[in-house]
Amino acid sequence: MKEKRDLKIQAIENGTVIDHITSGQALNVLRILGISSAFRATISFVMNASGARGRKDVVKIEGKELSVEEVNKIALISPKATINIIRDFQVVQKNNVVLPSYVEGVVRCKNSKCISNSSEPIESKFSVLQSEEGVSLHCLYCEHVISEDIAENLL
Ligand SMILES: [Zn+2]
Repeated sequence: MKEKRDLKIQAIENGTVIDHITSGQALNVLRILGISSAFRATISFVMNASGARGRKDVVKIEGKELSVEEVNKIALISPKATINIIRDFQVVQKNNVVLPSYVEGVVRCKNSKCISNSSEPIESKFSVLQSEEGVSLHCLYCEHVISEDIAENLL
């Protein structure tokens, strides 16, 4: 069984597997991790894989462990993701992402008149709420709500 599963996406020796990413969000996860054509490590990802809980995306990155900031951003766009740390081909740690209740300087407010978008050096501040519809961010300055397009507004 294990071999069959591994055919889908190659095993990595050391690094991170981000599993249960909300279907369609893998490219945004890569963006959060700052992965561009200049990135030298091996990266593989699967989009729309069928899992036990429906469709999901999976991202594997060789030789990288994620920072708290990166994990918090991933939680905003993919609150059911799991972060698996791989060492010597074994999962040594598996954690669900935890949705922060508050984020500062992470997302741009979509209200162009918001004080966080002014020339003042004021960091954006949002409270984070989760409902059945998904995650929504509520600006603490202007009360603007971002829900659908959090990924596009990440700083
Ligand atoms: Zn605002």
